[in-house]
Formats: sequence, C-alpha cells, structure tokens
Amino acid sequence: MEISKDKVATLNYVLKNDQGEVMDQSEDGRFAYLHGANNIIPGLEKALEGKKVGDKISVTVAPAEGYGERDLEQIQQVPRNMFPPDIDIQPGMQFQAQSPDGQMMVVMVTAVNNDTVSVDGNHPLAGENLHFDVEIVDVRDASSEELEHGHVHGPGGHEHG
Ligand code: ZN
Repeated sequence: MEISKDKVATLNYVLKNDQGEVMDQSEDGRFAYLHGANNIIPGLEKALEGKKVGDKISVTVAPAEGYGERDLEQIQQVPRNMFPPDIDIQPGMQFQAQSPDGQMMVVMVTAVNNDTVSVDGNHPLAGENLHFDVEIVDVRDASSEELEHGHVHGPGGHEHG
C-alpha cells in the first residue's frame, strides 16, 4: 500500500538542522499522521506521497515549505509588568499570549531587560532548512472517525475518548 490521501502512515524520523544537530525525532516508530490533512509540514508530506512500507527517504525542506521564514514583527518588547510578578522570568521560558488579531500563540522569552522582556512568537524551527531522514513503518487506511476528525487515533496519534 502506498501513502496517498486518506491513508495513515507511521514513520520513524530524525530531523536535523543545517548544522547537523538533531532538532526532533520520533520515538521508535510511534509517529503517525493522516496524509492529505495538513497534519505535517507541506514539504515533508509531498516527499512521502507514493512511498511504501520499508522505504527510506532523506529530504530537505526549505522554510517556505516548512515552518516559514522568521518574521521580525513576531519579536517584541513587552513591559515586564505584563508578566506575573512572582515569576522569575528567564530566557527560554514559554508563555501563552494573545496576538493583536486575537489568536492564542506561544511566545518564547529571548532576553530579560530592566523594564521589558523580549519575546519571540516565531516557531522555533522558522527560517531553518529541515533535513529529515524518514523510514516508513506502516501504511493503512484511515477509519471514518479519523477522517472526520482530520487526525490519527491510537498509537502514535491522538489519544482521546
Ligand atoms: Zn480525534
């Protein structure tokens, strides 16, 4: 069976950046996604189209087909008093914030100054070339429930009742 729209594929993968550092990896074949449902970045989904169990591919995905370019407007100075006073704010901490258009987003603290905190709302992998080594472990038909939800259930996917 080949990976195509409405199939569930289970993968083993390692993701590295341009420096060869491992940024992310699957836990021993436990990552599953629904093909054709925007569960994964477009560049990787395209590369997996038509692949079968046992296939191994290496693919490099540019930011435009990955997590996008880094957007400097997402890097902002926020008044220190916008944060809870009892928390010792440190670079690397993540907070939920509301963007100007009302969407919830995760921002990461990049620097702490006297009266302001620098936060970055870009995805941590924005602007990075993504180098994936992928092995296809399983391919199956999606259940009607999975198609309805737009994601995979069970091992490697969503666990919800
Ligand atoms: Zn579901």
